[in-house]
Amino acid sequence: MKRVYNFSAGPAVLPEAVLEQAAAEMLNYNDTGMSVMEMSHRSKAYEAIILEAEANLRKLMNIPDNYKVLFLQGGGHLQFSMVPLNLMKNKVADYIVTGVWAKKALAEAKRYGDARKIASSEDKMFSYIPDCDDLNISQDADYVYICENNTIYGTKFHKLPNTKGKDLVCDMSSCILSEPVDVSKYALIFAGAQKNIGPAGTTIVIIRDDLITDDFLPFTPLMLQYKINADNGSMYNTPPTYGIYICGLVFKWLLDLGGLEKMKTINVEKAKLLYDYLDGSKLFKGSVAKKDRSLMNVTFGTGNPELDDLFVKEAKAQGFDNLKGHRSVGAMRASIYNAMPKAGVVALVEFMQQFEKVHG
Ligand SMILES: *Cc1c(COP(=O)(O)O)cnc(C)c1O
Repeated sequence: MKRVYNFSAGPAVLPEAVLEQAAAEMLNYNDTGMSVMEMSHRSKAYEAIILEAEANLRKLMNIPDNYKVLFLQGGGHLQFSMVPLNLMKNKVADYIVTGVWAKKALAEAKRYGDARKIASSEDKMFSYIPDCDDLNISQDADYVYICENNTIYGTKFHKLPNTKGKDLVCDMSSCILSEPVDVSKYALIFAGAQKNIGPAGTTIVIIRDDLITDDFLPFTPLMLQYKINADNGSMYNTPPTYGIYICGLVFKWLLDLGGLEKMKTINVEKAKLLYDYLDGSKLFKGSVAKKDRSLMNVTFGTGNPELDDLFVKEAKAQGFDNLKGHRSVGAMRASIYNAMPKAGVVALVEFMQQFEKVHG
């Protein structure tokens, strides 16, 4: 069967070149006579894989030397817990709630301290990013928390909040590596790999090294301490070895492509194709405030749930898969991560034009 254009929000499309390389190396990686899956994480061959993956991520994101890179497990959700357990030293933290993921992170932090909601866009179904230039930041806040790209709604912070000197913690799960970022503006960045990097099961944490201390909340389980993971090069226990290998192939693919500046140019082109069409369409409408639109997750609908369902069904039959919006918001969402080729977006827009001709 032919491959489809997969617009899934995650786990999501991966670069075909990466899948082909993984397939070619499946039975015998680099003359080791075994698959990466079968390899000891303590072997020389595997050590080279994880060290190269880290080095290439550092190069791609221009990560300063005073930041550690960790390859962990547990997805975004475990970071909702690890962040407060390790960083809430004063037991106060400020959360900006721009969607369900930030809301869940806030609820988890409340289990460990005084986690405060200092801004929210829930009044309009999370369809915009609130103004964060002059927020009521708590004086004793250990950090300010954001979810930079809101996967479900299709919004993104295009400007970081003014944290008034407090450390910024960021869930970057669905926009990491989509464009260059200044890592030094963040105290901690985390991302589940399954959106824009690799397979589910690997979580990347980029953390400023002064935050890696023994001063976590006293009941923090060993494996949830950043320190034990950092001190052991993400190998205190068995890391998600195969997932990290695929992430490493994706990092190489991005470097070969020309890095994140180039990736951003392509992502802007792809998103513009869709948004320009939506802005001119009489049938389809974009779902969120224009100034806050995401480059990665494009949400739209016709306003008629039955017609939306028909669109999703007909699109699927034509090889455009996973266009249904998140179950909490409905309508449609096209996730156009790094690995979605421009041809996929061009073809989707053509299909939408045809659909509009018939149903508009
Ligand atoms: C998908 C997603 C999550 C949840 O990730 P899990 O790995 O399933 O725990 C959290 N935050 C964002 C921004 C996401 O897109």
